Amino acid sequence: MINQNFISQCKIIFGHENVLTDKAELLTYSYDATAGIPREIPSLVVFPQNTKQIQELIFLARQTKTPIYPRGAGTCLSGGPVPLSKGVVVSFQKMNKIVEIDADNLTATVQPGVIIADLNTAVAKYGLIYPPDPGSMATATIGGSVAENSGGLRGLKYGVTKHYIMGMEVVMPTGEIFRFGGKTVKNVTAYDFTHLFVGSEGTLGIITEIICKLIPSPKYHRVLIAFFDKLENAGKTVTDIIRNHVIPATLEIMDKVTIQTVENYAKIGLPTDVEALLLIEVDGMGKDSVEWEAKTCLKIIQQNNGKPKIAETDAEKDSLWTARRAALPALAQVKPATILEDATVPRTFLVDMLIAIQNIAKKYNLMIGTFGHAGDGNLHPTILVDPTDKDEMDRLHKAVDEIFEKALSLGGTLSGEHGIGVAKLKYLRSEIGRSGIDTIRRIKQALDPDNILNPGKLVPMED
Ligand SMILES: Cc1cc2nc3c(=O)[nH]c(=O)nc-3n(C[C@H](O)[C@H](O)[C@H](O)COP(=O)(O)OP(=O)(O)OC[C@H]3O[C@@H](n4cnc5c(N)ncnc54)[C@H](O)[C@@H]3O)c2cc1C
Repeated sequence: MINQNFISQCKIIFGHENVLTDKAELLTYSYDATAGIPREIPSLVVFPQNTKQIQELIFLARQTKTPIYPRGAGTCLSGGPVPLSKGVVVSFQKMNKIVEIDADNLTATVQPGVIIADLNTAVAKYGLIYPPDPGSMATATIGGSVAENSGGLRGLKYGVTKHYIMGMEVVMPTGEIFRFGGKTVKNVTAYDFTHLFVGSEGTLGIITEIICKLIPSPKYHRVLIAFFDKLENAGKTVTDIIRNHVIPATLEIMDKVTIQTVENYAKIGLPTDVEALLLIEVDGMGKDSVEWEAKTCLKIIQQNNGKPKIAETDAEKDSLWTARRAALPALAQVKPATILEDATVPRTFLVDMLIAIQNIAKKYNLMIGTFGHAGDGNLHPTILVDPTDKDEMDRLHKAVDEIFEKALSLGGTLSGEHGIGVAKLKYLRSEIGRSGIDTIRRIKQALDPDNILNPGKLVPMED
């Protein structure tokens, strides 16, 4: 419980200027980017600048059984950083140093509050990139994206966050400081702690330092866009490209509702009578191989009756990307709330999932625009609603239930990249079963016996 003594102790640990107690300011920290979830205004927010301060906070929280809610930039789409009871939000805004860039070992060591785009700007000087690139990378932090195991637009070729984390420092819920992994390419010592903490959604420990893997930046890029009159042809293009051994860095899809909404919003000259659009970027170190990949994609698009356009200049490349970048902002301005899901299916069932979403939209009379990472089978059905319309909200909940049911029936998953948080907790058992839930609970109980770290997220407390 938080009382005046707790607040005074926090001021001693963090300094007065790094403790927020003003109600109006605290309100901001009761939100992330997820609509329609429960939330509570925290009792205070602290801004640590080093690991020791976090350790002291944990000792204090354990004594008083106070919940701690770690927070990066608050861009989460499953309610991860949102407090569910009066507790302390730990914001990593001020713990944002790039500790080291080791270009010889291809690693960067960073504090959790580093913004993903800032890391990429810093490593660009060495001709390197940190590939995981969620659409929110201009604001999202490395700590938040490690805790969510975020994906992004380059997932198909380059993988997701878990493929780029080599080690960490974590303050455990008992207060111990635990370092594991490191700069070695190989490390099979003991359990794979790195992969346990990546995607742990702030429930198992507070991440205070991260060793990231970097790769050489690809030198050549080609960008194509293609329009299709039939969804099936767009889906077949996706599988044909991969069957022909081209792995694009980006292979994105937008459905008709999204295309029409983007065109209405951004007026960029998209055809509004087509059923789907694919945006493809191929990249690599060799000019000839990148050209071959672009030409192979072009041929496959034409064979599937798509209408392709290839960017010849950087300005054209940028303009083709505008459509995809505008998808979420365009959809978000149609109605007061945007529910963005991330049901994911094996790539070969992409079209089945898209058609199912369209049928669910009709059945429940809802506006759903779908876009997403087609190459990963990771779709973002985006449902546009007015939270004050009770009838529409009831239909929304039924539609979301059916979207997840369908994704699981196709061998898919509840979340390709946004995590479980609080938003998808009720569906968890349908994917991982009773034994999965019991295993999660046992891990949580072993590492956080007082249940003080991000309680109510990821770990179902009730059956
Ligand atoms: C416009 C938009 C586009 C997006 N695009 C993508 C996308 O393409 N791909 C994708 O995967 N996601 C995407 N997201 C979701 C979101 O941006 C990612 O999950 C992101 O990585 C979260 O980072 P954050 O810093 O905002 O973390 P937050 O939202 O603040 O927190 C996320 C989780 O991490 C925990 N956490 C934060 N810091 C720590 C720490 N140091 N130690 C332990 N736990 C911690 C929090 O408790 C919470 O559970 C998008 C979101 C928006 C709004």
